[in-house]
Amino acid sequence: MTIAVQPTASHFINGAYVEGGSEDLPVVFPATGEVVATLKLADEALVDQAIAAAKAAQPAWAALSGVERGRILRRAAEIMRERNRELSELETIDTGKPLQETLIADAASGADALEYFGGLAATLGGEHIQLGADFAYTRREALGVCVGIGAWNYPIQIASWKAAPALACGNTMVFKPSETTPLSALKLAEILIEAGAPAGVFNVVQGAGAVGARLVTHPDVAKVSLTGSVPTGRKVYAAAAEGLRHVTMELGGKSPLVIFDDANVENAVSAAINGNFYSSGQICSNGTRVFVQKGIKEAFLTRLAERLKGVNMGDPRDEAVNFGPMVSERQVQIVEGYIAKGLAEGARLVAGGQRREGAGFWMEPTVFADVTDTMTIAEEEIFGPVMSVLDFDTEEEVIARANATEFGLAAGVFTNNLARAHRVVAQFKAGTTWINTYNLTPVEVPFGGSKMSGVGRENGRAAIEHYSELKTVYVAMGDTEAPF
Ligand code: NDP
Repeated sequence: MTIAVQPTASHFINGAYVEGGSEDLPVVFPATGEVVATLKLADEALVDQAIAAAKAAQPAWAALSGVERGRILRRAAEIMRERNRELSELETIDTGKPLQETLIADAASGADALEYFGGLAATLGGEHIQLGADFAYTRREALGVCVGIGAWNYPIQIASWKAAPALACGNTMVFKPSETTPLSALKLAEILIEAGAPAGVFNVVQGAGAVGARLVTHPDVAKVSLTGSVPTGRKVYAAAAEGLRHVTMELGGKSPLVIFDDANVENAVSAAINGNFYSSGQICSNGTRVFVQKGIKEAFLTRLAERLKGVNMGDPRDEAVNFGPMVSERQVQIVEGYIAKGLAEGARLVAGGQRREGAGFWMEPTVFADVTDTMTIAEEEIFGPVMSVLDFDTEEEVIARANATEFGLAAGVFTNNLARAHRVVAQFKAGTTWINTYNLTPVEVPFGGSKMSGVGRENGRAAIEHYSELKTVYVAMGDTEAPF
């Protein structure tokens, strides 16, 4: 069956689809390797055109009341929900993630962001500060043109998590999806126009790193929000700093999931499965270092092995399938390299480890036990379906080991001891933590990383701080004094 997902055109600028650019960008269905669409990479003129459109649209957009901007965002959320199946099917073809997942976690999460920030838009404001007879007040103002750059694992979710708070605050945006998954951001642009957003408020240009780099250094850009790896984050942060631009950096991780002897084993196994194998392990906040206290190690591994029999790997368009391919050939090769290193460095392979032969980019869910802190698979982000299980004895020891990483995106703890749960999360050096669950990221709560995993926060009220700035207005009620 031929899959038809060719968009109207490659880019979306100033309220309309625009074709342009010279180099071809083939879009591949990861389950089969079939090319399902061919787009064009933007050239410099298109990037400049998109930024000019965003710049021109920004003052009038910011001049609308919060209620008016919010109404458009909430209407977009409704349209996105109405089209959830179509958008989910597109996301499944673009990313290879099972439809079972995309139906609930991608456009649905994007719609939540549009709804949430649409609601907040009307509440944004500053404060009044009394200074004796004088007083001051603050105005919360938009930054201007924001650039969003996305990773390939949650394309429409990432685009929406960036666009919704940016637009709510009165900014406009130029978004560059990952070149691996360019399709769904165009749909977000379409939907925003249909919901009533003025032309130029949200624009999409396709491209690889070079297009991203041009966006980031453009003199008319006030803010850059990137979701990507630490090496890219370093480059983008440095380039943005040149112009003292605001940044949000959502980067990689190697997060710990700590399971104490007294935990509910069934729930802990569920969390380890979700935190390592959902989206074939291609999630930044995954708990890829699973620390299991020695008393329940065998029970944990036995139950995990039983639960892995429930893996249904197959065509991700089949709603019964719960484990899809990886996004690309390159990503499979990276994971194969890490599995080989795990074996060479003495980790014990207890499940998976093999690439599935044939068309597409398939890797089995893989579990290593007896992993130690200095093994490569325990130190580096793999971004694939590879779980490392490490043993520990004491609380003090596991906290030190959990924090002994350059990353600090997320962390989780499983225990039935209430005091210990709070004591442990308080000591985690990570931006997003969970007690007795893992990887839940509702829009109402801030999400982001510490240390090398990022700067700033997405979601929650916290995101508003990163897409607006305060202007102070001092109001004198009396005469102005001067020394001479
Ligand atoms: P990359 O860092 O390779 O790319 C991220 C984005 O940046 C892509 O759109 C990429 O373009 C673009 N880019 C690359 N170089 C530059 C540059 N010099 N200037 C501007 N933009 C550039 O990440 P992946 O797409 O491979 O995604 C996986 C990574 O993302 C993992 O490390 C993962 O942990 C992280 N991630 C973090 C999340 C978070 O919220 N913290 C969520 C999801 C993923 P292109 O790819 O088209 O070349």
